[in-house]
Amino acid sequence: MKLRKVTAVAATALVLSLAATACGSSDKNDSGSGSSGGGKIKVGIKFDQPGIGLKQPDGSFAGFDVDVATYVAGQLGYKPAQIEWVETKSADRENALARGDVKFIAASYSINDERKQKVDFAGPYLLAHQDLLVKKDSTIAKGTDLNGKKLCSVTGSTSAQNIHDTIAPKANLREYSGYSECIAGLQSGAVDAVTTDDSILAGFASQDKYKGQFKLAGLKLSNENYGIGVKKGDSATVTKINTALEKMVSSGAWQTAVTKNFGPAGYKNEPAPKIGNIVK
Ligand code: GLU
Repeated sequence: MKLRKVTAVAATALVLSLAATACGSSDKNDSGSGSSGGGKIKVGIKFDQPGIGLKQPDGSFAGFDVDVATYVAGQLGYKPAQIEWVETKSADRENALARGDVKFIAASYSINDERKQKVDFAGPYLLAHQDLLVKKDSTIAKGTDLNGKKLCSVTGSTSAQNIHDTIAPKANLREYSGYSECIAGLQSGAVDAVTTDDSILAGFASQDKYKGQFKLAGLKLSNENYGIGVKKGDSATVTKINTALEKMVSSGAWQTAVTKNFGPAGYKNEPAPKIGNIVK
């Protein structure tokens, strides 16, 4: 009896050490084997975008990207408590993945050819559109009205790039590191408009502290296909995440996350995209 117990303990120890060896990859953010291993997974999100990815005063995180990332991590075998949220600002996303700081990024991250040179994408899981946020009494109503105006966007975003390239090359564009700084500038009058995805702008506009002060122009200036970024070459993770996203949509969890996060802002989102279907 006693001997059998010792043998069982030894066998367990052997299994554990083998499991530890199997998991001993170079991935510093993926040290455990999901829910069974108790390891952590590092996930990149935004920290300052209401409705998308927001660090709340109590230190918890909320938003559509947070819910999508939590669902995906769950399908990869990680419980919510095993997720370590890492802030990945617009300009930092490619580098964070290349360095292996995070396993994946769900941070209003549009799929495009330039980024695909550096990272791989699963998805898309949301189709948003670039828009403008202005003060309630503003006369800015279309893209070309921005030429000569003080406009704010974020470094490393497609929003800033599109302004330079096509929408309003003569706008006086200021680029900050996060949209919350742009919104503060709009409120103070330092800038005349903020531009980025309608999904993000709607979240800011509906915040208590800004309620009734701003309006969205409703312009659909671009198509922003949100993808989940992973390290270049990690096709196994892309496949797993695509399967997870498909399940999130078919199970109804995607719609639940949409209603919960976009409902309060009154944001009218597009239907769930099909995996691999990029709207140009
Ligand atoms: N979706 C756009 C992008 O990926 C704008 C939002 C952002 O900066 O995260 O650049």
